[in-house]
Amino acid sequence: MASSNQGCVPRAAHPSVQALATAGRKAPNKPSKGLINNKGENNCFLNVVIQSLWHLDTFRLKFDLWKDHKHTSEEEGGRCVHCALKNIWTFYHHSSTQLIPPHSLRKTLHLLFQEEDRFQIGSLDDAAEALDAVLESLHKLNLGDSDDSCIAHNVFGIKMSSFVSCRKCGKSSEPLTSNRFIEYVYISTLRELAIKRPNLPFETLLKISTQEFRGCPEPDEQVACTDILNPVTRQLMHIPEVLALGLVWPTSNPSPEEIISTLRIVQMQIELQNLFEFHPSLENSRTPFVLRGMICYYGKHYDAYYYCSVRHSWLVFDDATVKAVGSTWADVVNRCRLGHYHPSVLFYERKDMLSASRILSSVPPRNPQPEPVKLVELPPAATVTQPVLQVAPSVQEIPKPVIPESVSQSQPEPEAEPQTSTPKLAGYSLVQHSKKPRVVSNIPAGYIVLP
Ligand SMILES: [Zn+2]
Ligand SMILES: [Zn+2]
Ligand SMILES: [Zn+2]
Repeated sequence: MASSNQGCVPRAAHPSVQALATAGRKAPNKPSKGLINNKGENNCFLNVVIQSLWHLDTFRLKFDLWKDHKHTSEEEGGRCVHCALKNIWTFYHHSSTQLIPPHSLRKTLHLLFQEEDRFQIGSLDDAAEALDAVLESLHKLNLGDSDDSCIAHNVFGIKMSSFVSCRKCGKSSEPLTSNRFIEYVYISTLRELAIKRPNLPFETLLKISTQEFRGCPEPDEQVACTDILNPVTRQLMHIPEVLALGLVWPTSNPSPEEIISTLRIVQMQIELQNLFEFHPSLENSRTPFVLRGMICYYGKHYDAYYYCSVRHSWLVFDDATVKAVGSTWADVVNRCRLGHYHPSVLFYERKDMLSASRILSSVPPRNPQPEPVKLVELPPAATVTQPVLQVAPSVQEIPKPVIPESVSQSQPEPEAEPQTSTPKLAGYSLVQHSKKPRVVSNIPAGYIVLP
């Protein structure tokens, strides 16, 4: 979806640590719940988005704190993403049911995107695009305490300043600001690079894979340098609390080998300053991010994975079904291999925000032992092939870092140099809002040169 989010200035407006702790007390150790996907509803793409928003602590706790509001008409209320999500939150927080209906959000997106014929009831859609649409819709509601506070941009906002300096004539373009919720990367480029440079850490592979190149910024074509492409400098201006990484696959049905080799590159913890150049104002803002979960896809179906520290296991959320996968990332990788599921969105959460939201962990838990697993019978309407595995307290802790063997911890190496013989590109815009992979979409295929 084309974002019109230039107006939003995400602040470092984190709720206070105390506020997060208080909110956290309102959401103690809930059992993990499934979401309804009746036959023909095709809700799975939205269900994984809802599970992700709920299991990302910083979003869930902030959403709990976000102020409620009134609507002037029923029609206005029916188009409000905040109220639709709040309705689902109520089921998570207060209902005894293990199966939550996602239909309030499904209907709202249906109404909001009817003209564009996207997210229509009964149709399967793209999960990353649905996440972007939900966040953009929350942004447009502008329900923050001040004009420039917005939960979507404060948690997920990737605000960048971009410019090009010509290496031939030295002319620089005016810095342009862009705002997006998801950083996209082409998997084929990433994997090709990982094979050739196996010692590079994940963030550096991402950084090189997403490097854009532009021609001379001189607007006068008579004067502009020819036969040159210059790397675009992108400076991060706001550190998100959750980094959503969209993975763009060359095919909808990659082989198990391709899935495994990709998942093995993924690191449990990343440093954002290895992925983005920071704006000078952020220099002291270094903080690690930890992998909290992911959305996967196979054969017109989505599922999602999050780690549960109480059960010491990764869980898979497959519509109504919630199942334990295993205690390590390798278990997740193996499940994806067997089911041919490939990752579509990875979610990294800021470690210091996780610490803040978990101040309440100093309060002794009432029941330190994981609750026994119970099998729950489902209502007949739900399309599930197996009983829900009720897993006790929800995902509350970060996974322990497990660095895949294939990834070494060597220092980042210099980025690949572009080929100057590549033809100059036609017109370009540094401001990118599209949900579609923004990466080098107008660069000749195979342009990024692997050393
Ligand atoms: Zn509302
Ligand atoms: Zn916003
Ligand atoms: Zn030039």
